[in-house]
Amino acid sequence: MEIPGQIARRVANLVLPDTCVMDGALARAADGATFDNISPRDGRVLNKVPACGVADVDRAVAAARAAFEDGRWRRQSPKDKKKTLFRLAELMERDLDDLALMESLDTGKPISDATNVDIPLAIQSVRWYAEALDKIYGEVGPSNDSKFSYAVHEPLGVIGAITPWNFPLHMAMWKVAPALAMGNSVVLKPAEQSPLTSMRVAQLAIEAGLPAGVFNVVTGFGRPVGEALARHMDVDMITFTGSGAVGRQLMIYAGESNLKRVSLELGGKSPQIVFADCPDLDAAAEAAAWGVFFNQGEVCTAASRLLVQDSIKDDFLRRVTEVARTIKVGDPLDPSTRYGAMISERQMNTALRHIDQSKSEGLNLVLGGERVMAETGGFYVEPTIFDGVHSRSTIAREEIFGPVLGVMTFKDAAEAVQIANDTVYGLASGLWTADLDRAMSMTRRLRAGLVWVNGWDSCDITMPFGGFKQSGFGRDRSLHALHKYADLKSVTFTLREAR
Ligand code: ADP
Repeated sequence: MEIPGQIARRVANLVLPDTCVMDGALARAADGATFDNISPRDGRVLNKVPACGVADVDRAVAAARAAFEDGRWRRQSPKDKKKTLFRLAELMERDLDDLALMESLDTGKPISDATNVDIPLAIQSVRWYAEALDKIYGEVGPSNDSKFSYAVHEPLGVIGAITPWNFPLHMAMWKVAPALAMGNSVVLKPAEQSPLTSMRVAQLAIEAGLPAGVFNVVTGFGRPVGEALARHMDVDMITFTGSGAVGRQLMIYAGESNLKRVSLELGGKSPQIVFADCPDLDAAAEAAAWGVFFNQGEVCTAASRLLVQDSIKDDFLRRVTEVARTIKVGDPLDPSTRYGAMISERQMNTALRHIDQSKSEGLNLVLGGERVMAETGGFYVEPTIFDGVHSRSTIAREEIFGPVLGVMTFKDAAEAVQIANDTVYGLASGLWTADLDRAMSMTRRLRAGLVWVNGWDSCDITMPFGGFKQSGFGRDRSLHALHKYADLKSVTFTLREAR
């Protein structure tokens, strides 16, 4: 596929990283193995990336452990740590355009999203946690005169971060930034589909002056690299965003090794509920369409179940479909594109399989449903809407991680809550209503870690992010994420009278 004129020169000048970072130096797999990094934009090989193995994980973890034990980072003053992380944020900002281009090539997401959403949010995480790191206070206990007790937050040690491909750098920085800010060392394993920005940022961390061994990146596949990290006896915690299946494995690995802590941000089947008294039906229709089709549906909080009050169903579905029709599939590198390719042939086939399954279950296909732009060699699926979905429908139960919306109806608040909660997941949920009492009571009854009223995905880094039920546990974002990477130590002095 030809590269759009305005971006061709940038692509030609882009140097793709092809090394890991271990112990403050660029590194390749010990056995020299590499794998082909494919761009979903056209199915072509972008470059070769180290296919690390167990020995490489051992090496990275040893470097992280040494850095943690001698305190070269942990024991620096908060002021100095902050300076280094700010410097890292500045370097990411300097290289924002290159990072965005890499992210778009690696994932198939629109260059406009990578430039305006993914990379700026990754930078924001680094800045936010740098700014927060000297505002972590402990507690003084209510002891009697002969005692003095206090509790302090101490970094856990070596954090293994295993991250997904949908927002590669953004998700990585949700974890790496607070873990580093708390004084830990980190070994990051980015998803094999989209390793480039993590590899580049590890290089920038060296340039920023982060001491060797504090931030390491090992590339490769879930097995062996992710598994080796999660089974490692010298890793204190695994922080993960990805599928429920792998989340389960990580808990087994932790149980079978050193009982490392595990924090899991898994999938969802998030409902967006629209009542007839919705204060702004056009805004709700925008949110219903973009809530599921943003990033080609590859979002853990995707609003993949739309619950509409029966009296407005036909009108509202028409509005949502109108918005969705304007979402044109396009070349991710064209700056006007707002909807690009799916991450891989496999992920595309999962979406297409669910579309076929929904047809065979007799659901009513309202929009889309096809692979398009196949001649490019890329993996493109149209925004797809099914009506007549019910709680037993496969697309109401299984996470697709693709651009497929299922529309359902309800008659009243009680039924809306019942349908919304009828899922093993509990990540995000949203409702649109002008009735304050109803909104209040529903926010209490919805079993989800995120509830948005009259807006979708409407909070930011200041608020905790994570799920109830099988959507996982542990929170990214907010000060809770800082505390996640720390243990509490209680210290008590027994005092004698002053002489
Ligand atoms: P998806 O199925 O959508 O690709 P995954 O949950 O498989 O999502 O991937 C998320 C991350 O988990 C990736 O970095 C991947 O390499 C990693 N991973 C996959 N399998 C394992 C495993 N068995 N152990 C540890 N990490 C894994």
